[in-house]
Amino acid sequence: MMNSTSAPVAASVSPLDAAPSATKPSSTTATSITCDVVIVGCGVAGLYCALNLPRTYRVIMLSKGAIDECDSMLAQGGICMLVNDSDYDAYFEDTMRAGHYENRADSVEVMIRSSRRLIADLVRLGVDFERTPAGDLAFTREGAHSRPRICYHADITGEEITTKLLAQVRKRSNVEIREHTCMTDLIMANEGTPAARCAGVRATGPSGEPLDIHARATVLATGGIGGLYKHSTNFPLLTGDGCRIAANHGAALEHMDYVQIHPTSLYTGKPGRSFLISESCRGEGAILLDRNGERFTDELQPRDVVTAAIKRQMAIDGTDHVWLSFERIDRATILEHFPHIYEACRDAGYDILHEPAPVVPAQHYFMGGIHVDLNSETTVPDLYAAGETSCNGVHGKNRLASNSLLESLVFARRAAYHIATGASLAVDGAEPQQASGAAAQNDTLEHASAASQDAAPAPINPEPALSANR
Ligand SMILES: Cc1cc2nc3c(=O)[nH]c(=O)nc-3n(C[C@H](O)[C@H](O)[C@H](O)COP(=O)(O)OP(=O)(O)OC[C@H]3O[C@@H](n4cnc5c(N)ncnc54)[C@H](O)[C@@H]3O)c2cc1C
Repeated sequence: MMNSTSAPVAASVSPLDAAPSATKPSSTTATSITCDVVIVGCGVAGLYCALNLPRTYRVIMLSKGAIDECDSMLAQGGICMLVNDSDYDAYFEDTMRAGHYENRADSVEVMIRSSRRLIADLVRLGVDFERTPAGDLAFTREGAHSRPRICYHADITGEEITTKLLAQVRKRSNVEIREHTCMTDLIMANEGTPAARCAGVRATGPSGEPLDIHARATVLATGGIGGLYKHSTNFPLLTGDGCRIAANHGAALEHMDYVQIHPTSLYTGKPGRSFLISESCRGEGAILLDRNGERFTDELQPRDVVTAAIKRQMAIDGTDHVWLSFERIDRATILEHFPHIYEACRDAGYDILHEPAPVVPAQHYFMGGIHVDLNSETTVPDLYAAGETSCNGVHGKNRLASNSLLESLVFARRAAYHIATGASLAVDGAEPQQASGAAAQNDTLEHASAASQDAAPAPINPEPALSANR
């Protein structure tokens, strides 16, 4: 669904034009492989999509670098969840307000209403979220959230989720992961005609050897664009390849200029990936200080507003950074909730138990991307996109903290369901709403029923208790 503010543009945008080329293909003939589904990307979006496809499908997954070189491994703060029905309106409003009301409301609703089942499924798959002494899920809070609703695992929530999903994928004999294998192009059938469709991907293997992977459906889960920036919290290999390559074959892009700058990365003055200091530190009480040790803004405003305030203050002070003070957070919370942030700051020479750390805004997240619908379908038949490379409209102009892991997972599952059944996954995750399109006609009953089984709501025992502790 599109409206005037979210209309996709079939255009390549300047930063993506400058994407560094992958390993050059050699002149040897490409090895040809055929599978049911090829998934480009092994972050949470790619992995969860694979887990929700029928086990009867042959699935090939590509990772441009090593398997752990993805932003999913870096996520610190956590993943949002609708704590209870009475929080729905507030959660919806927080997401829309952060997105400057440019979000697609139906996508936001799908994400929020799918969140409890999604978290329950992650628990079933082995993800270990923080619990209260009573055994309920514990929730933390981040900027622009009106209440605590974020599940977390210390300050390495992304690593916890990604490694558990990867372990599950590795158990699947129908899924093959190819590391250091870089997508360089799409394979198109009938290109230039009304019957044009995506039929797989071209790639180069670890030694630059060419590879043609033919597939009935292709999922781009290639992550963000931080590698195109000088200062970013992202892995440098994430250079928007999915957007660039899809656009070359006519896929519509959307909001390519909506790039989120995170207010607080650790300032070191050194080149390379910037270390993020999670928003949940401010959610737990950390405050921003100017060069004179004075507060200058409300730290819990949306990211773009806090970023603007920091930049303004740096200009006034004539400095390259401001300071983040943890003095209002007790020692135990710092050491137990933020152990990796504590260590990273200490390694850079700042003991946050006793002194503030210097912080500066850095490129962090890409709200735009390949335009997709509620089924994660792009405008090119048989080409899907999920995760940060896609734009389903959830985030509007600015992402609410901890919505991206959730959005990636929810819409990756919807892609898998649509690939397998040709139908839309209902918001409660149980029943198809409609059967449509070529995928439905191509699917065998065996595929459809296997998908339903795999994509069906997981029985949760015990159901994660849904009360907030703070
Ligand atoms: C430091 C940091 C902290 C964050 N904290 C949070 C948080 O607390 N909560 C939250 O919700 N979100 C957070 N985010 C955002 C979130 O982590 C990402 O948006 C999300 O993990 C993206 O998942 P993904 O699967 O789309 O992409 P990624 O996990 O980045 O995976 C991309 C995959 O695509 C592959 N790839 C890329 N190009 C190619 C190619 N040409 N060929 C083959 N493979 C390719 C890569 O190798 C990789 O496997 C954070 C991000 C960062 C950087």
